Amino acid sequence: MKELPTFPVRLDFSLGRPTARRPAPAAARSALRAVSQLPGGVAAQGHGIDSTAVRMNMVHKLAGQGISDPLVLSAMGSIERHRFVDSALVNQAYEDTSLPIGLGQTISKPGVVARMAELLRQGASGRLGRVLEIGTGCGYQAAVLSLLAHEVYSIERLRGLHDKARDNLRHLRLANLHLLFGDGRVGYAKGAPYAAIIAAAGGEAVPQAWLDQLAVGGRLVAPVAVGAASAGRQALLVIDKTAQGLRQTVLEAVHFVPLKSGVA
Ligand code: SAH
Repeated sequence: MKELPTFPVRLDFSLGRPTARRPAPAAARSALRAVSQLPGGVAAQGHGIDSTAVRMNMVHKLAGQGISDPLVLSAMGSIERHRFVDSALVNQAYEDTSLPIGLGQTISKPGVVARMAELLRQGASGRLGRVLEIGTGCGYQAAVLSLLAHEVYSIERLRGLHDKARDNLRHLRLANLHLLFGDGRVGYAKGAPYAAIIAAAGGEAVPQAWLDQLAVGGRLVAPVAVGAASAGRQALLVIDKTAQGLRQTVLEAVHFVPLKSGVA
């Protein structure tokens, strides 16, 4: 039987040099320094894997793409993405690409996770309060969010992925991350109001429950369908809930799996 490659055998370090389309701003530079001093991510101890260098390259690229929130860069540098994908895919874990996680779903690109997290945080200096994530998937983004917020509630509608995320996350022992099994379109009222809501799956519109459960002063970031439904185009939507009402901003085009109803 052919042996599966062990991490990080086939990683191409030559691709990993910082692209630095823009020099990292001062805040990002100090976050990068802090990350580079980590012993190998919050979870590496005792596993004999050193993925720090390749993860640092990913963080440099994110800074080059314009991500500047030090907490986001630090979280992206800490969570070991290769632990959330199948062993056959670990050599691609730090590329800016989505990867299959089973049951027809995908782990989001690191660039998209970082972009959405930065939008959610709105430049806050400390951690966010309570955050709701719809679409736990393999649990990667939930782990990143748990370093950016005081409490994270993450909902998944597929039992198989809910269980997989639980397995993937066990070693991290993130006491502030709560995994829920259910239809995320109804949100999770018990944790409301949320400082931030983030969806990893895109629907035709944002469910009313999410808007109801968002705190005044809070922000929602979600992919939504734009244009003719048949065209299948999506854009990133930001909704700010203010005392005066909702303010919507449509940002760049994105590609997310569909937001579905019910559980399976
Ligand atoms: N953030 C995830 C990305 C997962 S892909 C990660 O880091 O891996 C999006 C996920 O949303 C899929 O697992 C899909 O099953 C889930 N999903 C789709 N509709 C949903 C719904 N109504 N409620 C909860 N999860 C949903």
